[in-house]
Amino acid sequence: MSAKKRHLYFLAVIVLLFTARASAQGWRTRVWPTTPDNVEYPTQLTGWLIVIDPGHGGSDSGAVNKNLNLKEKDIVLAVGLKLRTALQDLGARVEMTRDTDKSMLISERYTLANNLHAHRLVSLHNNAANTTAEGIETWVDSDAPQVWKNYASSLHRNTISAAKAYDSSIRDRGIKYSGTTPPWSGKKIGVINYANIKCPAALLELNFIDNDKEANRLIRDDYQRALANGMANGFLEHASQYNKEDGLKY
Ligand SMILES: [Zn+2]
Repeated sequence: MSAKKRHLYFLAVIVLLFTARASAQGWRTRVWPTTPDNVEYPTQLTGWLIVIDPGHGGSDSGAVNKNLNLKEKDIVLAVGLKLRTALQDLGARVEMTRDTDKSMLISERYTLANNLHAHRLVSLHNNAANTTAEGIETWVDSDAPQVWKNYASSLHRNTISAAKAYDSSIRDRGIKYSGTTPPWSGKKIGVINYANIKCPAALLELNFIDNDKEANRLIRDDYQRALANGMANGFLEHASQYNKEDGLKY
């Protein structure tokens, strides 16, 4: 071996040793985080297929705030897109009934979830009443099994907690029941109707859009993110108590 070749040989050995050591220290994962083989994705919701249903859309504005020129269909889409990001960050597969401003029938929404064999559906809405009512409530079908009700409770509890961390004055209006059996409150909601949809489903009424105080909060990006993160925490809590197959009718 010539002096020059020996020099190159030692250089190669040093490079190899350095690379091996860096790899053992996890350098490769940190240096190239987008290389699939080296990335460790969060695993908490891995395998879960969640359908997000932003209510209304297209020709159906939902509730409106005329003072502030706000439409429910736009607010719930913005929150839904943030929720999609939060759930994907937790490893879930997420489908949306709509991710643009388009009209959709109620039946198209639950049929989409059924055809996908989704594990859960969450429908996002804003409430409206008399311009002074306020707070967040979550709806679930009273005819459905307990897992559906626990799912709704987890979403509600964690959403309230995130909302109150943002603004402690936000009112918790609790869980409300649609359906035909007690404690039914008299309302039927198609998209979460146990007779229609085959996976646990809950509908959140995220504040009152016709109340200017609540509407001014709802349009804020950071509040929308707080709601999305709260709901994502709700999914995590639910996943710690139930398997994704629980409560399905497929
Ligand atoms: Zn609505």
